[in-house]
Amino acid sequence: MAEVIGIDLGTTYSCVAFMDGNIPTIIPNLEGNNTTPSVVSFTGTGQVLVGLPAWRQAITNPENTVYSVKRLIGKKYNSPEMEGLSSRLPYRIVEAANGDILIEAGGRLYSPQEISAYILEYLKKCAENYLGTKVEEAVITVPAYFNDHQRQATKDAATICGLNVLRIINEPTAASLAYGFNTRKNGQVAVYDLGGGTFDITVLEIQDGVFHVLSTSGDTFLGGDDFDNRIIGWLLEEFRKEHGIDLSQDRFALQRIREAAEKAKRELSFVLETEINLPFISSSGGNSLHIQKTINRSFLESLTADLVDRTLTICQKALEEARMDVSKIDEVILVGGQTRMPLVRDRVAEFFRRPPAARINPDEIVAMGAALQASIIKGESRDLVLLLDVTPFSLGIETENGTFQKIIEKNTTIPARKTMPFTTVEDNQRRVRIHVLQGESPLARENTSLATFDLVGIEPAPAGVPQIDVTFEIDADGIIKVSARDVGTGREQKVEIKPSAGLLPGELQQIIERRQKEVSGRDEEGLL
Ligand code: AMP
Repeated sequence: MAEVIGIDLGTTYSCVAFMDGNIPTIIPNLEGNNTTPSVVSFTGTGQVLVGLPAWRQAITNPENTVYSVKRLIGKKYNSPEMEGLSSRLPYRIVEAANGDILIEAGGRLYSPQEISAYILEYLKKCAENYLGTKVEEAVITVPAYFNDHQRQATKDAATICGLNVLRIINEPTAASLAYGFNTRKNGQVAVYDLGGGTFDITVLEIQDGVFHVLSTSGDTFLGGDDFDNRIIGWLLEEFRKEHGIDLSQDRFALQRIREAAEKAKRELSFVLETEINLPFISSSGGNSLHIQKTINRSFLESLTADLVDRTLTICQKALEEARMDVSKIDEVILVGGQTRMPLVRDRVAEFFRRPPAARINPDEIVAMGAALQASIIKGESRDLVLLLDVTPFSLGIETENGTFQKIIEKNTTIPARKTMPFTTVEDNQRRVRIHVLQGESPLARENTSLATFDLVGIEPAPAGVPQIDVTFEIDADGIIKVSARDVGTGREQKVEIKPSAGLLPGELQQIIERRQKEVSGRDEEGLL
């Protein structure tokens, strides 16, 4: 029988797991490591490298080495979060015709979905190799705070590489599932998840195998990369002061600085002081210039304290939304590599007034939870747990004067479904336009536009007479569907949805066909 797997598709690292009998188990990659860098590199000879070999290319081939693609997936090129980011990336990004992001690498343009598909394909291959069987189905995790575009784009990435997504689940929920499954403890749990690019906090209740998420909150643009950027900013500024040279314009130098900064940050989680040595980083007047700096833990903490504060403000919000006092939390689970930083652990412990749960590997627990969920869906562990997750954003429509009418509130348990009646405002009106949005602002324009749709073919009647019931649904993946019914005739109305982002079905099909050709070409050459 084909195996099902759980995939944690991370910003910086990804991880894959399966259920070995009743035990969630990590699958090592082809290099024998439990996590794989989420990096794709296009070489001069037309090869596509994924994981560690791709990561090794980052310094010599920075323009064609794509990392942190999860920060771009499902985002608009002109979104406020993108400001400043594109100039810090060593690869080029451009705007797609629909305002989405495209990545220029290996002499071509790729959607973030296609880049993620390379990573998923590699993980699928690792699993097939390890398990000795075909793998066609997976549960994939996303940050709880991912919106509909980001979830849909993640699903599309899986479709591109031929993986059927059994379910998209939220990373913190997956972590709590694995934790609760292992410990069999009951109580109120907070999952604090600070990864490479995103931050999520989820408050949930575990009671005899029922995992009931009470609230979730987060920031999809706050993560370990931001900690690295503080060190990078400091190094660039010091170099500019010393030599009058702005290294931020030098892609090769910047990539070396980025790697050294991240390495120093990691080391400072275990030692109090470390060195950053970057010989021959630049030259001036025929002389080679080097970076040689000592950085200590307390200086790193002063550079990044505000980032940690930001996560705690979000924690406070999540507790309020769960209507829970911090004293009621029985356990805090830390997820994501950045939670290895002592400042993060200390501040979280102080905030929740308890030390975080021990013996949890923050890099692996999410994939384990995903594998567990996959086996639950396949009916193999059904009687073990029940997962009740929530939607991280409110869903609604734009009404007159540009205001936002919420229809399904944030933190509603999913799947959720709600129907609202609509009518016409003019006599004999044949069509009504509805603008669907996701977010919390009372102003429509400040929320994420998901789609517009027209209800067409309304029978001619005086204004206000036709009743059209519009149903909004959020499925268990957190993905939204809208349908409409003419109450008078009982007929389903035709709904024309114009998604405001993402790949259109035709585009997705084209990409799948192109990838299939690439894969068969590679198989003929005997490449992975
Ligand atoms: P994830 O997305 O969960 O893989 O988290 C990756 C992030 O964790 C990256 O920003 C890493 O730099 C960071 N990270 C990994 N190990 C450590 C460590 N020992 N100390 C601080 N940050 C770390």
